[in-house]
Amino acid sequence: MTATLSEQTKQRDAIAKTGRSLFDRGFTFGSTGNVSVRLGDGSLLATPTNASLGDLDPARISHLSEKGELLSGDKPTKEAFLHQCVYCARADAAAVVHLHSTHSVAISILADVDPTDVLPPLTAYYVMRVGKLPLVPYFPPGDEALANAVLAHIGTAHAVLLANHGPVVAGKTLADAQYATEELEEAAKLFLLLQGQRIRPLTREQVAALRARF
Ligand code: ZN
Repeated sequence: MTATLSEQTKQRDAIAKTGRSLFDRGFTFGSTGNVSVRLGDGSLLATPTNASLGDLDPARISHLSEKGELLSGDKPTKEAFLHQCVYCARADAAAVVHLHSTHSVAISILADVDPTDVLPPLTAYYVMRVGKLPLVPYFPPGDEALANAVLAHIGTAHAVLLANHGPVVAGKTLADAQYATEELEEAAKLFLLLQGQRIRPLTREQVAALRARF
């Protein structure tokens, strides 16, 4: 299947709109964060390097081949390899959102969290949209070992949390990936608000019932 021009145009506009919405509501800042979409022919649209998500020009969004070669647009984000890892490991993923959103980064720095699943099941919507959140160990920016570490974790969950860095969230559509990223940020905020207090997360049975239904 080839990515038609209209599919590309539609997705370029959707990426710019999503980026502006995330930026305007404070989910990202400066030139941090990146968004990508996998088109029907396997090629990717990704936000460019040093671009603010609040001010993306749809025409300049990077178009990359399946192998990561730049086909058109500006040079892609330096974190494009994170997105490629996700698409490589998850056939069902058609969009990826990666942010340095404050509360999600905060929980990525906490000691003593469960690295196999960082957050407890605080709310039904968190369980339905995010589910499991493995912690990927810290690697400095640009370290290719990060790619392998993400690959090792993203197969078992559609969202992972990079230690001392931020979340990488896959979705079947761009809207799915965006909403799951926002749900994660809100759950992280709740988790921090509840620090030091006794909490009553959903029970194992309640979580299982949600997973069976959705
Ligand atoms: Zn990042």
